[in-house]
Amino acid sequence: MSNLEVEPQELLCEADPVTAGRIEVLEPRMVPLGGPRAMTVRRTLPQRGRSLIGAWCFADHYGPDDVAATGGMAVPPHPHTGLQTVSWLFAGEIEHRDSTGAHAMVRPGELNLMTAGGGIQHSEVSTPATTILHGVQLWTVLPEGARHGAPMFERYVPDVVDFEGARVSVFLGSLLDSTSTATAFTPIVGAQFDIPANTAITVPVEVGFEYGVLVDTGTVSLDGVAIPTAHVGYRAPGATRLALATGDEPARVILLGGEPFGESIVMWWNFVGRSHDEIVASRATWMADVIVGADPDGQFGEVAGYDGRALPAPELPLGRLRPRA
Ligand code: MN
Repeated sequence: MSNLEVEPQELLCEADPVTAGRIEVLEPRMVPLGGPRAMTVRRTLPQRGRSLIGAWCFADHYGPDDVAATGGMAVPPHPHTGLQTVSWLFAGEIEHRDSTGAHAMVRPGELNLMTAGGGIQHSEVSTPATTILHGVQLWTVLPEGARHGAPMFERYVPDVVDFEGARVSVFLGSLLDSTSTATAFTPIVGAQFDIPANTAITVPVEVGFEYGVLVDTGTVSLDGVAIPTAHVGYRAPGATRLALATGDEPARVILLGGEPFGESIVMWWNFVGRSHDEIVASRATWMADVIVGADPDGQFGEVAGYDGRALPAPELPLGRLRPRA
């Protein structure tokens, strides 16, 4: 989805403080997505003090949303640079079109992964069949060696793995002998866990990864610390197991993990770059090539089959950010 904030702030994301040995509980921020009847999402990444988990740089969690009341998702063509969008639904259906020519339906349990490389645009519209929309929109940041590459779109439907009573779908990276075929550009993992009530599981994990547990339904404890619904439990690198336990309710969680990213990035609106000037240039190109005059051969290509106009970029905030070396 697009970052539809009306006044998005420019964010500098760098290595966050290490908190080995304890669990941090990250609170969601409610973000209205603009438009007349728009949805509100719960954003846990980026936030003050925690901008990245591995290469995961953006985590929006939404629903269950009654589409009859909110209008669902109707996001016109908008650009991305330097990132991947990871669309993962629990309920509903979204029609995706992008400038690689991809036209696909996003459905529960099916990964849609869009790699922006140096530039892409896409539209996302919930279908008429959708009554409830519920899911996550996640971004990964591309490392220096991949961020100027060609855009691409991939789908992957993971097998559901049974593990100590939980059902696990690994949609990106590898976990529990399940490996996604979708392309990752950094050591990373993303998976859904459905854990029955009163169940404790111990998941073998990568010692060099940091992890976030985003709680969708119910509550879980992560290494003994209670993580409320819609919050993220964060654990720094350094352990080989991750303990998840439910109480009297079943829980659904999204596990996000990866090697600490290590590069400083600048994020604004739908662009990820390495400098303020680069963000300014991406915005100017989007406005000139797509909003003012369609240039199908430009940085962002064109989206075929979408009935409507592309999304203009908001104004840039005053001031500038410089990543530290
Ligand atoms: Mn998007």
